[in-house]
Amino acid sequence: MEFETKYENSKKCKSDGQITDSDHVDAEKGMPAAEGKPDIKSLTLAELTGELNKLGEKPFRAKQLYQWMHEKLARSYEEMTNISKNLKEKLEQNFTYTSLNMVTFQESQIDGTRKYLFELADGNVVESVWMKYKHGNSVCISSQVGCRMGCRFCASTLDGLERNLLPGEMLDQIYYISRHTGERVSNLVVMGTGEPMDNYDNILKFIHMLTDENGLHISQRNVTVSTCGIVPRMRQLAEENLQITLALSLHATTDEKRRRLMPIAYTYRLEDVLDACRYYFEKTGRRITFEYSLVRGVNDTEEDARELIALVGDLNCHINLIPVNPIEERDFRESTAEAIRAFQMRLEKHRLNVTVRREMGRDIDGACGQLRRRHKKEM
Ligand code: SAH
Repeated sequence: MEFETKYENSKKCKSDGQITDSDHVDAEKGMPAAEGKPDIKSLTLAELTGELNKLGEKPFRAKQLYQWMHEKLARSYEEMTNISKNLKEKLEQNFTYTSLNMVTFQESQIDGTRKYLFELADGNVVESVWMKYKHGNSVCISSQVGCRMGCRFCASTLDGLERNLLPGEMLDQIYYISRHTGERVSNLVVMGTGEPMDNYDNILKFIHMLTDENGLHISQRNVTVSTCGIVPRMRQLAEENLQITLALSLHATTDEKRRRLMPIAYTYRLEDVLDACRYYFEKTGRRITFEYSLVRGVNDTEEDARELIALVGDLNCHINLIPVNPIEERDFRESTAEAIRAFQMRLEKHRLNVTVRREMGRDIDGACGQLRRRHKKEM
């Protein structure tokens, strides 16, 4: 009950940004075990082998089952032709089987980007995006239902956090899209709704399963996890011996300015966030990506560019400028095209590695999290 109280509090968006480490642990406990049964799709091969052993089944059965779920992307036991009826019944009694339902999908006429809205077993909905690039297909997934980080320009956080997603629920966003498009997914970004470092254990398991040779076997180097800057978790991630890219939502160059956009900046100082980025690079050798959403008149001035150069100029990094995507609930506006160009050029003059995020699927889109919000309002 004590947890439920805290959970309720967390739903009310922490405008003061006071997020403690113990909050994160509690949020992880907040995942629902549907009908009290574990989700079979969230079990690693080793865990599945152990569970099947308890049911009197041999290890090769676990491997077959795992392949059905994570390589052949089966949507139900029905598709599993070499698994006996008897075992299927046992599995149904003991586990739930995550299989997302598509509520809607929209396809951009401009660039083929697709936005999916999925319904989870408990009726909650999450968004995912499929993007086609020259270097391969990329999926952007949600890591939580809602978010409690409260970033001012972000639609995903307006109603606070509902719950964490299970590893199987994150995987199934990719599996569904992969089946639906009939194309291989080669890149994965955790940049949809939610703060991945606020759902740490599940994210980690998800990454291991996604990159496992018995699953989709996506290269770790093609996986990017974006965080608003939860310092202890970033440091923990650095220790995990992974080759994934860490993206930090920087968005401002001083604590004061950052606090205006991101309440989390009240909890962790920029200095400590950047130290954690340096630590991540030291440990993994992976170049950090900084995301910087440009908001007109707030963080897009010449002074901001100068400060940004001073702040990260010495780091082996990539800067991704994102023209802010305005949401109707807030009055932040996108920087002008000239301001974006000038900002980019100032950084490039100092040999910083900069890209401006292409606006994929602008015709079908609203800002991140808007599809889910629109759906909720219509219900
Ligand atoms: N919680 C993670 C992932 C969030 S979404 C994080 O904070 O990094 C991925 C990126 O999109 C983040 O940098 C986020 O700040 C940014 N973002 C969210 N809403 C946006 C909007 N309306 N316009 C521009 N960028 C936005």
